[in-house]
Amino acid sequence: SPRDIVQDVASAIQAQNPSMGAYLSWDLDKALTEADKADLSQPLGGIPIGIKDNMNVLGEPCTCASKMLANYRAPYDAGAIQKLRAGGGIPFGRLNMDEFAMGSSTENSALGTTRNPRDLERIPGGSSGGSAAAVAGNLAIATLGSDTGGSIRQPAALCGCVGIKPTYGRISRFGLVAFASSLDQIGPITKTVEDAALLLNHLCGKDSRDSTSLDVEVPDFTAAIGRDIKGLRIGLPKEYFISGIHAGVSASVNAAVKKLESLGAIPVEISLPHTDVGVSTYYIIAPAEASTNLARFDGVRYGHRAADPKNLLEHYMLSREQGFGPEVKRRILLGTYVLSSGYYDAYYIKAQRARTLIRQDFEKAFEQVDVIISPTSPTPAHKLGELKDNPLAAYLEDIFTIPVNLAGLPAISVPCGTAEEGGKQLPVGLQIIGKPLDELTVLRVADAFE
Ligand code: GLN
Repeated sequence: SPRDIVQDVASAIQAQNPSMGAYLSWDLDKALTEADKADLSQPLGGIPIGIKDNMNVLGEPCTCASKMLANYRAPYDAGAIQKLRAGGGIPFGRLNMDEFAMGSSTENSALGTTRNPRDLERIPGGSSGGSAAAVAGNLAIATLGSDTGGSIRQPAALCGCVGIKPTYGRISRFGLVAFASSLDQIGPITKTVEDAALLLNHLCGKDSRDSTSLDVEVPDFTAAIGRDIKGLRIGLPKEYFISGIHAGVSASVNAAVKKLESLGAIPVEISLPHTDVGVSTYYIIAPAEASTNLARFDGVRYGHRAADPKNLLEHYMLSREQGFGPEVKRRILLGTYVLSSGYYDAYYIKAQRARTLIRQDFEKAFEQVDVIISPTSPTPAHKLGELKDNPLAAYLEDIFTIPVNLAGLPAISVPCGTAEEGGKQLPVGLQIIGKPLDELTVLRVADAFE
C-alpha cells in the first residue's frame, strides 16, 4: 500500500540520512495522511517523490539551502508539484542543494553536507546533490531537481543515476525559486530511464502562471522505452573529446559510442565551434539574472531579517550580508557589475551575442544528426573539499552541460560505466542532447544503456 511505501522510504531515510545528508527535512505524518488518500488509479498513485529544497510545496520548508530562507515555509504548491499530485505522486522530503542552486558539489549549502552514496568521502555533485544522492543511496524512489547549467545531469552522473533536463519551457517554473530565469528548468532524477519518462509524462505541460512555459503537446514519453536505435545518427562534437578529460571517463564514453554503434546507430563527427566560450558566457548571463532575481530577498517581505538595523538601508544591507553565503554574494557582485552602466555593452550584450552563436552551433549540428553525445562531466566525483577554494576550476567542469541550457535543449545523463579514482570505481555519466522538444529520441538512446 502507499502507506507502506512511504513508511519504507522514511525508514531508509532515518537509518541512512545521518551519514549521507541528502535530506534537509521531511514530514512523515503529512506524507502518510496523503498516502491514505492516494488515488491508485493514477500512474504515480501513492509514490513518494523527494523534492529539491527550491520548489514550493504548500506548508513545507523551502530553504534553498540558505540561511536567508532557513525559516521560510511555502504558501502554495509550485506548478510542477501540482502536476505531480495530479498524477498521483506524493511530494515527500526536502533535498539538500547548493545555496540557491549555485554550485556543482552541494558544498555551497549553508544547511548541511551531502555525501556521495558511492563513496562517502566524495561530493554528490550539484546543485541537486541531495536529489541525486537520495536516489543513488536508495533513500528515494525518484526525486525532482532543477538544472540551470547542469544541476540535474551532473549530480546524476556523479552518483550513478539518471537525470533529465527537458527542453526549456516544458515544465512550469512557477514556484521554483528563480536562479537564472532564462536557463532554469525542473526535471526528474531516477533509477531508470523508464522512470524518468513516466515522471516527465506528469510534469510537463503549459502553465499560464509561467509565461515561458510552452503550449505544446505532451507525448507519452514511455513510448521511447524498449525501441531500437537502428539508423539514428549520433553526433560526436570534436571540441568535446579533448585532452583534460579523466582517462576513465574517456574510456567509458568511448565504450558507450561502440555500444551505440553495435546497436545500429551511426556515429558522425560534428563541430560545435563556440564550445570554448560557453562557460564564460554562462558566468555573465546566469549571475546577471541571479542578481536581479535575488534582489527580492531584502529582509522585508520574507527571509532573514537583521536585528536592530539603524535605518532602512542598513536593514537591507545587514539582512543580505547575514543571509547569503559567499558563492551567492560572488554571483550577485558579478551580476550587478556586468549589468551596470558602462559595462552592460561590454559584457552582458556580448554574452547575449555569444549565446546566439552557441545556439546556432547546435542548430547547424542537428541538420546532420539526431542526438549529440558527450561526457556529462569531465571527471568523476571529487573528494569533499577538493575544489571548495577554487571556484574557477569548479566552473570549468560544467563545460559540457552549460551550452545545453544556453541553447534551451533537452539532455539526459545516463550511467555508462565507471572510472577508477583513488582505488575506487566511480560512476560515469553519458550526456545525450536532443533537438528542441525531442525528449523522445533522447530517452530512446538513453534506454540503450539499461
Ligand atoms: N554549476 C553551475 C552553477 O554553479 C550550474 C548550477 C545549476 O545548474 N543550478 O551555476
